[in-house]
Amino acid sequence: MKAIVGFFRSLLLLDMIKGFALTGRYLFARKITIEYPEEKAPQSPRFRGMHALRRYPEGEERCIACKLCEAVCPAMAITIESEQRADGTRRTLRYDIDQNKCIFCGFCEEACPVEAIVETQIHEYHGETPNDLYFTKEMLLAIGDRYEKEIAAARAVDARYR
Ligand code: SF4
Ligand code: SF4
Repeated sequence: MKAIVGFFRSLLLLDMIKGFALTGRYLFARKITIEYPEEKAPQSPRFRGMHALRRYPEGEERCIACKLCEAVCPAMAITIESEQRADGTRRTLRYDIDQNKCIFCGFCEEACPVEAIVETQIHEYHGETPNDLYFTKEMLLAIGDRYEKEIAAARAVDARYR
């Protein structure tokens, strides 16, 4: 009986007709694909992209070298060395993030008491060697300086949920 049904199914091209019907249904449906990179999908203000270190408006580094981000990082991607300044404040001498290890969990950003380390909306970057994805303090501060306006805007949108 199964063989007979299979014979008539193939004779009447039923599977092909079902396939065409499915294609036809989506031909006029609203398109959900976009022409990336010319078109971009909307991004959440909580998007976790490339890291940045931020400064206060007067130029002082926000980071107070508390090392909470280093302690909370599950991938052990953050390395901090710090010293006490003459005025008694503590600042980092070294702040490195190895993006080869990072899993973009956002824990470092959540742990930071002064919103110094943040994950930006930047996701279009790559490295060709492991060294290319090793970010030093100077590199992270430079990213923060360059994108501070966008970082502050994204955090302002998200502020009421925090
Ligand atoms: S996003 Fe997560 S894995 Fe990456 S550096 Fe921050 S805490 Fe570590
Ligand atoms: S980035 Fe934030 S959590 Fe990490 S050491 Fe600096 S102040 Fe502490």
